[in-house]
Formats: sequence, structure tokens, C-alpha cells
Amino acid sequence: MITPFRLHAALLTPHSKERMSWHPHGVLVVDERGAIAWRGAEEELPEHFLPLKEIRSPHVLLPGLIDTHVHLPQLDCRGKFGASLLEWLDRFIYPEELRFAEEHVARDIARRFFAALAGAGTTTAMVYGTVHERATDIAFEEAERARLRVVFGKVLMDREAPAGLLESAADGIAATERLIERWHRKTARLWYAVTPRFALSCTPQLLSGAAVLAKRHDTYVQTHCNESGGEIARVAELFPAAPHYTGVYEAAGLLTPRTVLGHNIHTDDAQLAMLREHDCAVAHCPDSNLFLGSGRFPIEMHERHGIRVGLGSDVGAGTTLSMFHIMHAMSHVQARSLHPFVPLYHATLGGAAALGQDESLGSLDPGKQADMIEVEIEQSFCRGRRLHELSAQEIASVLVYRSSNQRVGRMWVGGEEIQRAEDGTGAAPSPAV
Ligand SMILES: [Zn+2]
Repeated sequence: MITPFRLHAALLTPHSKERMSWHPHGVLVVDERGAIAWRGAEEELPEHFLPLKEIRSPHVLLPGLIDTHVHLPQLDCRGKFGASLLEWLDRFIYPEELRFAEEHVARDIARRFFAALAGAGTTTAMVYGTVHERATDIAFEEAERARLRVVFGKVLMDREAPAGLLESAADGIAATERLIERWHRKTARLWYAVTPRFALSCTPQLLSGAAVLAKRHDTYVQTHCNESGGEIARVAELFPAAPHYTGVYEAAGLLTPRTVLGHNIHTDDAQLAMLREHDCAVAHCPDSNLFLGSGRFPIEMHERHGIRVGLGSDVGAGTTLSMFHIMHAMSHVQARSLHPFVPLYHATLGGAAALGQDESLGSLDPGKQADMIEVEIEQSFCRGRRLHELSAQEIASVLVYRSSNQRVGRMWVGGEEIQRAEDGTGAAPSPAV
């Protein structure tokens, strides 16, 4: 329970890709359960809310940002050039993930990772771990300590990776089930995602075992799909009977309404129809796609098939946890002018929809959880005008297209202010000299 309050600020909140509500002099009322009780213009605030504690913000208030695809163990691997996906995994990522066998490494990086997420204004994230059971416990402990909403899973791999990251299908499934029992819905902010890394690193037995667990415990599923040419060719060799990459996951039973597939760039109508039939969601990771040269995400095709699409940073192929940067990158990938409402929608309400949480997250609507962030708008953008004189489109535009300048101020999750002691970059402390 929290002390109810009313927050006076300029409020911007999405309804759809085309429509946002903008209250230049807005008020948001948060009740004792941390939910939004009322939202609107200051002059319309019902009198019975006046006795509540008042907080005033000189900044723009947005719904908390949602990152639907990110790898905790890759926090320190950002920006390591590796040419293609498979080469990059071998050279940088697998060696780094091997280090998570050591508890102090797992603890240090998990703590910095969640601090950096909060620093970036991300209130909800769907996150990949490593194969290690103990490191997964540590990540959940740190997620709980950080007070963020986190969907997390231990990665499953039983082939085509270094020996230290492989386990038998039976061992991987048993460890996953123990982790689900310990962490799935342990609090209202934690969920488990059964996480076969991608078809390439999993035998059919492991994939179908993972699907059974997800169904039995009603968890999320996260995996990668159709990211790069080399990966797709190898999956075709390993699963010769499958009609295509998506078909591998369907045969295993992994396509569910709680499944979020990362990337899905090189897809087609047959595969998208399959995703629609199973009501799966996709995490679009534009910054990662640019870094690895993976290709242009076909957003129009996903829209045509009615697929829910969230945005993901995909750190460490993504170079930053800042969803402002990721929104901006979305327009670079599309290589056309994109209305700023579109990326802002996908990083908030669209992300919530991808996670099946749009009833409770993703916008500042009454009844939803009060997950929100303050963002400072640069004075130079206002050019002598005051914040409340700008339009919704101008505000969205500066948020998305001056992405490198965004400064997140205070942040609330479920109406609870999150204390952010660290600088939000996730940087390791410099070694003592
Ligand atoms: Zn990824």
C-alpha cells in the first residue's frame, strides 16, 4: 500500500499509433494500490482529490518505457563489432556468458543491469539470462530489489555452443521448472519466460520440453526467430522437415499468446499467418538490426497480419538500454519518415500489448498501474515558448528524434517512486589505480 497522491505535470499518453492524449496542465491521481484513479486537465480535477498529497513536476510525464527484448549478461558487450550474428556470438557473447558461472560476476552485472534499466526510464522489461541456474536466481533477486517489472528466463541450449554453456535437455528442463516454481509470479512484478535461445542451439527434444513447461505453468516464452541469413540457413539444415523457421517452433508447441519472438525480419506471409493464428507477439530491435546489419524489419507486413509488436533494445547487439535511442533507431531502419507517435506507441502501449499486459500497463489511463517517468524537455527546443504551448506532436517529436539528449527525472512503478542512485549507464566502476 502507498500513500495516495496527485501529480501535476504535462502528461502525454498513447491510445494508438495514431492518437495520443496531451494534457499540458494535467493531473494524475494515484490511489493506495498504486493504480491510476484519475487523469485529466487540472481545471477538471474533482474536488474530493484535493486533500491528497500534491507533487508538482516541471517536466513531461510519460508512461514507463517497455523493453521487450534485452540480454542481461550482455550489458558489457555493447558495441563489440563482430560482422554477423553467429560470428559475434562466438567471439564475444558466449565467452562473456561463460563468466556467469561465477556468482560475483552474475551479481555485479545483474545489479548494474537493473540500475541501468531504471536509469533509462524502463519500468518493464523482458530479459534473457544465461544458462546458469544460480545466476538466474541472482538476476531475479536483483530484479526484485530494483522494484521493476521483469519477465526473465534462464537460456536453454543443448547444442551448437561452447561446452560450458551446454547441458542435456533433461537437465535444462529440470532447472527451468525449479526456477519457475521459485520465481514465476513470486511478486506482482516478476514473471518467468521459458527461454530456448533459438532453434539453432536447441534439439527438438529441448524445444518440446520447454513448450510443455510453459503450458503447464502458464509462463511466457521468449526466443529469437528469422534474424539473419546465416542463422536461418543453419536452422533449415538442422530441421529439414520444417516448412520454415517459424514452423520449427510451431511443431514444438512453443507458439502461444504469451510467446514473444525477437527480430522476425526475414519472414513471409505464411509465417506471419502462423504467428497470427497462435496470437504470438514480436519484439522489434532496430538498433541491434543496424549494428549487426541484419536487415529491415517489415513492419507493414506485421501490421497487415495484426501481429502485436513491441520494441526491444536487444543489448548487447543493441548499443544502449535507452528506449529513446531505440525509438529513434526504428525510423533509421525503416528509412522513411515516421510519425513520432509510432515509435512512442511501440515503446509504451505497444510493448504492453506485446506482453499481453495492456489492460494494466503502457499508458496513463485510469485503472492501470501508475508506472510513469518524468522527462525533461530541452529548453532550446521550446524556443521561448513554454512547455504547455507545444503540441502533442511536437513533444513526441523531440522525445523520439532528439533521443540522445533525453534526461529521465523521477520514476514510479505502481505509484512507488524508484530511487535511482546510479548513473544509469550500467558502467562498471573504474578499476582502482
Ligand atoms: Zn537477442
